[in-house]
Amino acid sequence: MLFDYHIHSEFSPDSRSTLKDICTQAQKIGLAEIAITDHYDIDYQNSRIVFNIDREKYLATLEDLQQEYAGRLRIKKGLELGLQPHIIDQCTEYVGDFFDFVIGSFHTIQKKDLYTGEFFRGYSQWEAYREYLKDVLYCVQNFRHFSVVGHLDVIRRYGNFPEVPDLTEDRDCVDLLEEIFNILIGQGKGIEVNTSGYYIGNGDDPMPSRSILRLYLEKGGEILTTGSDSHGIEQMGYKFRETHQLLRDLGYRYLTTFEKNEPIFHKI
Ligand SMILES: [Zn+2]
Ligand SMILES: [Zn+2]
Repeated sequence: MLFDYHIHSEFSPDSRSTLKDICTQAQKIGLAEIAITDHYDIDYQNSRIVFNIDREKYLATLEDLQQEYAGRLRIKKGLELGLQPHIIDQCTEYVGDFFDFVIGSFHTIQKKDLYTGEFFRGYSQWEAYREYLKDVLYCVQNFRHFSVVGHLDVIRRYGNFPEVPDLTEDRDCVDLLEEIFNILIGQGKGIEVNTSGYYIGNGDDPMPSRSILRLYLEKGGEILTTGSDSHGIEQMGYKFRETHQLLRDLGYRYLTTFEKNEPIFHKI
């Protein structure tokens, strides 16, 4: 069964998809279940765009949609929450227990935007990668209200470097990744396999890379969701069948969906 657990709708200012079109497309391409995961980024360090959601309106809209599609398509109330060390209390309050599924993502590091490249100034490439992972580690140590970490090696997408090595090529990065995985696994949380890794840039891998997925499995990681990170309906479910095969080849046996932030396992 196919589950797209990372979809942006009209509640995200950078998405072109309406909820109606998302549901129609999900049925058309045979998705068994979707999670709508719109952006909520507190203190996002890019003044050109604001990722803010009126929570009550969002939840009410998704509940109406669940009613409308009852028996035809399972729709989960999700969120892609931008995490940063200094906003953890605000994130905790916002998320509460209102959502089925929360992706904890990192778009801003040390109060600097990754997308504009500002964060990378003053760091070598590996220093920047390590600093990014240190913030991820701090947040997974100190924040509880999420289900999976989103696009874990997204840092490789930014900084305009001519070569983009895998994070597992650096010993310090591997140590940080292992610490992150130990915490996630201990707390019953997981990571997502984000297939925008294939359609953005020259990706042969999803995000995170297969090397990181291998490391997660070695550490005992089992909780894994699949998400297209679609900002347009044509991206929904992108390369999911190939991704299932990749995960099976790596040795994974289950994919996860969530209900009220509790994982449910499905054989791949
Ligand atoms: Zn994201
Ligand atoms: Zn996203």
